[in-house]
Amino acid sequence: MFLYFCILSVLLLLLVDMVFYIIVNATLSRQTRDRVTRVGTEVVALLERRPDDKVLKQLFLRYQDEGIVVYILSEDGAVVLPEISISESRAEEAVEQAATLSVGDDVAYRSEGFVNFCSKVTYNESVNIILVSCPLVVVREIVTDLQVYLILVSIIALLLAFLISYTISQRLTRGLKNLSSTAVRFAHGDYSVEFANADYREVAQLSDTLNFVRDEVKKSRDFQREILANVTHDLKTPLTMIKAYASMVQEISGDNPEKRNQHLQVIIDEADRLTGLVDDVLSVSKVNSNLGEIHFKVFNLTEFLYGIINKFGYLQESGYNLMVDIDPDLYTRADEEKIEQVIYNLLGNAVSYTGEDKTVFISLKTSMDGKRIKLSIRDTGKGIPKEELPNIWDRYYRSEESHTRPVKGTGLGLNIVKVILENHSFDYGVESEKGKGSTFWVDFPSVPAE
Ligand code: ADP
Repeated sequence: MFLYFCILSVLLLLLVDMVFYIIVNATLSRQTRDRVTRVGTEVVALLERRPDDKVLKQLFLRYQDEGIVVYILSEDGAVVLPEISISESRAEEAVEQAATLSVGDDVAYRSEGFVNFCSKVTYNESVNIILVSCPLVVVREIVTDLQVYLILVSIIALLLAFLISYTISQRLTRGLKNLSSTAVRFAHGDYSVEFANADYREVAQLSDTLNFVRDEVKKSRDFQREILANVTHDLKTPLTMIKAYASMVQEISGDNPEKRNQHLQVIIDEADRLTGLVDDVLSVSKVNSNLGEIHFKVFNLTEFLYGIINKFGYLQESGYNLMVDIDPDLYTRADEEKIEQVIYNLLGNAVSYTGEDKTVFISLKTSMDGKRIKLSIRDTGKGIPKEELPNIWDRYYRSEESHTRPVKGTGLGLNIVKVILENHSFDYGVESEKGKGSTFWVDFPSVPAE
C-alpha cells in the first residue's frame, strides 16, 4: 500500500512539474516577445523625433543592460548604429523580413536563439531597418533557475507525501493485520478472541462482522456440544432399558404372555423415545441445509391438516384429546412439505406443553373477507411468561421448565417454524396467558382450487 501511495505521489508530482514547466516556458516566451515589441515601437517613435546619435547610443546602451540589443541597419544589412557587429546570417534574416514590409510597418519573429522585432523606418533621410533582439539565453536562464526551485519544492513535497503515505498505510494495514492475526487465532479454535475496532469505518465494519461471525460460530459449537451431550445421554437410558427388557423376555417372561407383553411394551415405548430423539437431530441438520428453498403449490389445506392430525391419532391411547374445528375445502398456496413441518412442530409443542386435561384445540377458519385462512393451535398448559415470548422463536432457545414428554427438546422447533413462515412471508404469532395456555397461529393466503 505504501509503495502504491509512493508511486502515485511521484506520478502526480511529475505531472505537476511538467505542466508547470510548459506554462512557465510559454509565458516567458510571450513576455519576451512583448518586451522586444515594446522596445521596438519606443525606438521607432523616438527616431521620428530625429534625435542625435549620442542620445540614441545612450538609449541603446541602457537597453543592452536589460539584455536587449537594438540595431539600426542599412537596407542591405550593414550596421549603422551602434558600433557592435552582428552576425551575417542575422543581418540577412532581418533584411529578408524587412523586404516584406513598407516603411512604418513592423514584424516580430523568432530566429535561432533570439526573439526579434523588425521595422522599416526613415532615418537620416534614408530607409533603414530597426532590429531589436533579445537572446533566448535569458529566458533559458530564468527557466533553469525556476527548475532548480521546482526540483527543491518537488523533493520536499515528495518527502511529505511519503511521510503521509507511510502514516496512512501503517494505520490502515495495522487494523487489517490485527484482524488477520486475530482471525488465525480464531481459526485455531480460540473463541475468546476479540476483533479490535479500527480507525477506518470499513475496517471497523469488517471487525464488527467478524465479531458477529465469532459469536455465531461459538453458539453453533456450544449448541453442537450440548446436542451431542443430550443425545448421547438420552440414547443411553432407552438402550439400557431395551437391552434389559429384551434379556428379561429371553430369560424370564418368554413363556408368560402377560409379562412378556408388558416387557415388550416397555421395549416399544423406549424405541419410540429413540425415534423422537432421532427426529429432533434430523431437524437440526435440516435447519442447516436448504430451508430457504420454497416450492409453492396450491393444495387443500383442510385435507392436509386432517392428514397430519391423523398421524397424531396414537396419542388418544395415552388419553390426549385433539379437538378440531376445521372449515371444509380451504385451499392455500405454499410449500406442502415445509408447512407440514410447521404444523408438526406446533402440534408437537401443544401436546408436550398442554395441561392436565391433555387437550389440544385445532381450528382452521377463513377470515371475514375470505382472503386468509387462520390456523390456531391452542393448549391448556402453563402458558409462556410475557418476558419469554419474544425469545421462544430464537434458535436454541429452551425454557428452563422441562417437557412433560420424555424426549428432551432441542429448542429448534419454533425457530424452524419461524424461518419457514418468514420465507413464505406468512404472518404468524402466539398469544399466551400464564396458567391458561398458549395459542400459536399462522395466517395462510386463501386461494381458489386449481
Ligand atoms: P423445544 O424443542 O424445546 O420444544 P421449541 O423451539 O419448539 O423447542 O420451543 C422453544 C421453547 O418455547 C420451549 O422450550 C418452550 O419453553 C416454549 N414453548 C413452545 N411451545 C410452547 C407451548 N405450546 N406452551 C408453552 N411453552 C411453549
